[in-house]
Amino acid sequence: MPKPLTGQYSIGAAVLGWSDRKMPPNSASGMVNDINKTYMDLSGGRFGFNKRDTKVVRLRYKFARKNLNKAEAQAQREIGRHDLNAFIHGGARKFSNSGRDKMHLINARAGKHESGHVLDALQNGKSLGHATSSLGNDNSDNYSFMGFGAAVPRLTLPQLYNEGWPSQSKSLPAEKTIAQYELGAAPTDYPFENLYAEEHEDGCVRGVRVVKPNSREVFVSYLSAKDDEHKGDLAFFAHYRTGGGSQLFARFNDKQIQLDENLYVKNVGLYGDGKPVLRFSSTPITAESSSNSATGAETMPSKKKHKHA
Ligand SMILES: [Zn+2]
Repeated sequence: MPKPLTGQYSIGAAVLGWSDRKMPPNSASGMVNDINKTYMDLSGGRFGFNKRDTKVVRLRYKFARKNLNKAEAQAQREIGRHDLNAFIHGGARKFSNSGRDKMHLINARAGKHESGHVLDALQNGKSLGHATSSLGNDNSDNYSFMGFGAAVPRLTLPQLYNEGWPSQSKSLPAEKTIAQYELGAAPTDYPFENLYAEEHEDGCVRGVRVVKPNSREVFVSYLSAKDDEHKGDLAFFAHYRTGGGSQLFARFNDKQIQLDENLYVKNVGLYGDGKPVLRFSSTPITAESSSNSATGAETMPSKKKHKHA
């Protein structure tokens, strides 16, 4: 498990009030509160921005792309330097972008996504990459705010793993939440907890990680119907991890799915309070095949002691 991103930091956000335009409202205030709440929730209270300054700055400059650097420099002087710094420019540049500890935003809605790109400024290796998808047409995984169209307060499992926040539950030890399945190992059953459930049933995992030598890590996670935008009965997700980003490459429910050359997964039953059980196997799963139980689930045949990653 990567070392978690933890601690409390400062964020400053200035709304640029161009000299030839009406003073804009302070949209930065809601934005920084939302950014803080999102990270506090995702990290189980381990990471956030307890110092949040915002200001609408009356500029000496007219609205123009060529004035943006000077305008941001003036705004930075007036609001002071923070661990992360945001400037809402209202379209002086046609897009939002970011670098090092600075976000340059078209509007406040872009703040959460851009903040993910600058987390390296707080702790090395923690910047988030895009949540892409090879399903659908727009290449965007909208279950994450690092997708291209999404403002949801969520990240994908590989992204939570990269940040060291595999569980939002403060009482749940991180190392208990993501199991590791070794390719070539005997078929193994894992009861799944909803990735975003507030409660945690003993014996369940939030996800399973599969590592292939010289290849991308595969992460499997689960959302219940009410959390799935497609409103299926069950929704399991398979992502590749791409640094701090992820690529959604499979979404499945009841049928067996082959996720890689030697990786088969099938929903084989229920555990405890109705949690789905996924069997991971290096060979195709047949009706007769037996398995190890990862957790000692009583509904499943269990021959060996379980092992958590
Ligand atoms: Zn981006």
